[in-house]
Amino acid sequence: MTKRTSEKTSLRAVERPAETEASVCAKCFGTGIEVTPEGARRCICRALRDEADQSKRAKLPKRYAHCHLTNYTPQNPSQRAALQYATNFMMEYPAVDRGLLFMGTVGVGKTHLAVSILKGLAERGFSCLFYEFGSLLKEIQDSYNPNTYTSELGVLSPVLNTEVLVLDELGASKPTDWVRDTLGHIINSRYNDKKLTVFTTNYLDIRPNDREETLEDRIASARAPAFSKCAKALKLRARTTAEASIQGCEASKIGLFKDIKLFCLLLYILCI
Ligand SMILES: [Zn+2]
Repeated sequence: MTKRTSEKTSLRAVERPAETEASVCAKCFGTGIEVTPEGARRCICRALRDEADQSKRAKLPKRYAHCHLTNYTPQNPSQRAALQYATNFMMEYPAVDRGLLFMGTVGVGKTHLAVSILKGLAERGFSCLFYEFGSLLKEIQDSYNPNTYTSELGVLSPVLNTEVLVLDELGASKPTDWVRDTLGHIINSRYNDKKLTVFTTNYLDIRPNDREETLEDRIASARAPAFSKCAKALKLRARTTAEASIQGCEASKIGLFKDIKLFCLLLYILCI
């Protein structure tokens, strides 16, 4: 941030001695309200700080700091449909009848969409929590105390009580009975309390071949209701080779067009 020597900046420094000159926002001078010719508005610095606080409370890893619905770039119709559904879903919540399950292979943007929904709802004031399913299991295991169960409840309590939970990478952990029971307990409790859960998984509901497992194979539990009851499944396809080549072709056309324009400009300069 550039140093400001205006009278206004100096005045702010006197009013708030704990804030150094270098840390004062040049747009709002630390007030959080930016004054523009059109009127007063919330300063971007306050919005960023609020988002950082919300992400911290939701235990959202920093690597997802950039994720928003506005910067998700769909590569095919399935991803476009998922983005549209996620956008409507976020705006309509809490008037929704069940959660969401983003399904698809690595790199299609499942977590990006789930995190974007979480951020949007956190901004609207709902309590939110993010967990990779494997990390949650590890935290529960690490806290496990066979005598009191206290620590285990300490980890599980916010997971069960938060209004919005994103459970990322469902099915990634080895499917033992304990894993199935734990997940079944979480899903069942939240479903009964009508709390929103958004899941992501690399597993599909249809077996692609004999060697591969479905999501049901990985996580099915007698303790939880059927997945279709608690979450609407959105399947995101990876970009096919044909789609990639069409986009590559469009990009090369743009490149060619730019080259022609540049050539014409050079010709024009040489002629005059
Ligand atoms: Zn500011």
